[in-house]
Amino acid sequence: MNLIWFRNDLRIQANPAVAAVMSQGTPAIAVVCLTPESWDEHRESPRRIGLWRARLLEVEKELSGLGIALKVINAEHFNKTPEKLLAFAQAHSVEQLFFNREYPLNEALRDQSVVRLLSAQGVKVSVFDGELIIPPGEVLTGQGEMFKVYTPFARAWRRRLVQFDSPIIPVKGSLPQSGEVSDSVPKDLNWQSLSYDPEYWPVDSDSIRQRVYAFVEERESDYALKRDYPAVRGTSELSPYLTIGAISPRQLMHLVSAKYRDDSWLESSWLNELIWREFYRHLMQAYPALSRFEPFRPDVEARIRWQKNDQYFEAWCRGETGFPIIDAAMKQLRATGWMHNRLRMVVASFLTKLAGIDWRDGERFFIEQLIDADFSSNLGGWQWSASVGADAAPYFRIFNPTAQSKKFDPEGEFLIRWLPELAGVPAKLRHEPGAGQALGRPAPILDYKLARQRSLSAYQSAE
Ligand code: FAD
Repeated sequence: MNLIWFRNDLRIQANPAVAAVMSQGTPAIAVVCLTPESWDEHRESPRRIGLWRARLLEVEKELSGLGIALKVINAEHFNKTPEKLLAFAQAHSVEQLFFNREYPLNEALRDQSVVRLLSAQGVKVSVFDGELIIPPGEVLTGQGEMFKVYTPFARAWRRRLVQFDSPIIPVKGSLPQSGEVSDSVPKDLNWQSLSYDPEYWPVDSDSIRQRVYAFVEERESDYALKRDYPAVRGTSELSPYLTIGAISPRQLMHLVSAKYRDDSWLESSWLNELIWREFYRHLMQAYPALSRFEPFRPDVEARIRWQKNDQYFEAWCRGETGFPIIDAAMKQLRATGWMHNRLRMVVASFLTKLAGIDWRDGERFFIEQLIDADFSSNLGGWQWSASVGADAAPYFRIFNPTAQSKKFDPEGEFLIRWLPELAGVPAKLRHEPGAGQALGRPAPILDYKLARQRSLSAYQSAE
């Protein structure tokens, strides 16, 4: 009996572990491990877990078409996964285990102990790289080190691609029956009240494929023009699917390259974003301290004194800072679990640079709320925003929320979508801190110029 272990790789196609199991031609079962205690402990986003569960039900259906039953192990806590998997493997006379690698430190350590434990009991373990186009450790400087900034990494990544640009072989056919029956996936995985919108984020493979095609065929070419305007659907909104592995970046890359007639796809702005995703995962593997919430630039952070200011933090979380663009963005996050990238940068800069609050607090709040909550990308984004991350730009990049709002939402369309009371404020004034106070909007919690000055002094002392 072969066993395939699913984690955040919930797809059948373009999944190297699935392809390997299928190529064996012998009976197989699949397994997932539920770890609700760890989800609670890490305050994981119930939206993301809800999406993951819903997608798992689809994977279960697709697996049964391949002759593979899906079993569910309640491992309770992440740390218990290796021993529970071992017990499962022994009970089901498993000869070979297949899974795709995950790169954050705890996940890597868990996988190592799974390999150790199961190999010691005679189970052959085969591990694959399916989460990235180029695995960590394969894009290095001339000195054999990980790049510390994005642009040279991306250049080297493009050069290395030739060696990793293998075709995706479609998974077809079915395996001989194993005699096992799928377990039902418990409904109460989404144990907290927050839920995601199943109509906006469908999980069946056909709907996901349609969304991918709709973006690549119709919107990818305009990405560079439209990507920064939150009122416009200019980005792909595929992040939740990439996060749970319902689609693979390799599939996306192949679609983009097939669309262009020459090599110009390699310079596509959208491909750049997929490379950012790879960059943060490569960093995480090269610098295990990042997984312990240590900054990439401890030298900068050592000199900054983060403020403990519950009033600022609560106002930011609730979308009541009195800065319209910040509040509209935070309301979008709280209502949908997704936020436009431009706004993620602006709200993160506001919290860390203007309110002076530790980036870890913002990072945690995002992890709780986001439907695309992803440890590597979120950590990378927060450290970058707080200027303690892998970044070539100097510390004095502080986003002015009002200027950003005027530039990227000139008509205030996004503002009104999330703060409808601002429709009663003249368009020119909608972006200003304190706009709409007479209509019930809060007063600004801080003075931008003063806060900026304070922040500059603090970061200067960290030079
Ligand atoms: P598109 O613009 O269509 O990009 C395509 C894909 O590329 C995305 O789906 C995503 O997988 C990847 N990508 C795009 N931008 C980035 C980036 N800057 N860093 C890494 N990958 C990127 N992304 C997450 O997936 N999960 C997170 O938890 C997350 N937290 C963030 C926190 C902060 C403070 C910041 C500044 C960024 C964060 N990002 C995160 C990155 C980015 O904002 C989202 O990936 C993007 O907004 C998702 O929308 P999209 O799918 O339409 O992206």
